[in-house]
Amino acid sequence: MSSHVLENFLKENLEDLKGKGLYNEIDTLESANGPVIKINGKELINLSSNNYLGLATDKRLIEACNEATKTYGVGAGAVRTINGTLKVHIELEEKLAKFKHTEAAIAYQSGFNCNMAAISAVMDKNDAILSDELNHASIIDGCRLSKAKIIRFNHSDMDDLRAKAKEATESGLYNKVMVITDGVFSMDGDIAKLPEIVKIAEEFDLITYVDDAHGSGVLGKGAGTVKHFGLSDKVDFQIGTLSKAIGVVGGYVAGKQDLIDWLKVRSRPFLFSTSLTPGAAAACIEAIDILSNSTELQEKLWENADYLKQGLKDIGFDIGNSETPITPVIIGDEVKTQKFSKRLNEEGVYAKSIVFPTVPRGTGRVRNMPTAAHTKEMLDQAISTYKKVGKELGII
Ligand SMILES: *Cc1c(COP(=O)(O)O)cnc(C)c1O
Repeated sequence: MSSHVLENFLKENLEDLKGKGLYNEIDTLESANGPVIKINGKELINLSSNNYLGLATDKRLIEACNEATKTYGVGAGAVRTINGTLKVHIELEEKLAKFKHTEAAIAYQSGFNCNMAAISAVMDKNDAILSDELNHASIIDGCRLSKAKIIRFNHSDMDDLRAKAKEATESGLYNKVMVITDGVFSMDGDIAKLPEIVKIAEEFDLITYVDDAHGSGVLGKGAGTVKHFGLSDKVDFQIGTLSKAIGVVGGYVAGKQDLIDWLKVRSRPFLFSTSLTPGAAAACIEAIDILSNSTELQEKLWENADYLKQGLKDIGFDIGNSETPITPVIIGDEVKTQKFSKRLNEEGVYAKSIVFPTVPRGTGRVRNMPTAAHTKEMLDQAISTYKKVGKELGII
């Protein structure tokens, strides 16, 4: 017999969400997540993936994955500390450290897991964390897990950060104080002010932590936001995901050897959850080799992003202040934003609406993620669809 308490809880809350139009119906793809996807038998130009460089479907990665699977099998068989550390994992970590210009790196099962792992391995209830108010959900959860005091600062507001850093360090209440930020903020595409953050960190002796999920493979010739600013030796924790630009799955922390050694003995997702599959690890190695040897894919990504941004701007859309390929089209009203995305979909363009509470009320937007795999023709078609739907809904 199932619990009536649970049944009632689920029924009430699901109905409540559906009544408010907040219940998310998830689309199923009948194809790979490439520049064109198939949903319900219909082909759509895909502007919603994080597959920035098109590597998720790259033949070289598929080949590497298959080869490693033949050699090592489909699963790692154990957590890393028992006997689930395979040669491919070590090779991946060595490549990642080189790629990020750090002494060492440690791989996890996801970017989300990195934040579950790394923050609480170092911070505890006697510490404080200064956290940008727009940080990713996994950073917020990782901070909570650590039990440290969480002090939010206004988004990219360096005066606010400085004032709160001063207050926290001078209060004498905390053993350690950390500042934590996304490298690239995924809803607006703006870049964290890392040079100023590092300066403030030096002034107040803060631990620095940058989650660069949307910057790696995109900025700094692929190495990410920290490298973009030339700060590779000034940031303690560099977090990355292997699921966005790298195109596979997994995450990593890059930093000093001592930090990585500590995470290998103290971070719980490393100790208690089975490691990346050999195929995934090998595909990631291949991706990093590709990025280390050529900037062709990054150049194509930026070229496509600039083209899409210019096209949308020229026809009169508000595309915000993105500094990266992330291209929001800001509509404002929540209902209108959702209608806009639905009409784009009916006209053959898949671009998701993002509304409150993911972004502030009244700033609803359709978010576009151009990739290196899109052709000019696809982008032209998307832009002309935007024009048609924008006119129809009276937005341009
Ligand atoms: C996407 C994202 C993650 C999660 O990465 P996964 O590898 O998909 O788990 C973590 N942090 C930030 C900032 C992200 O944008």
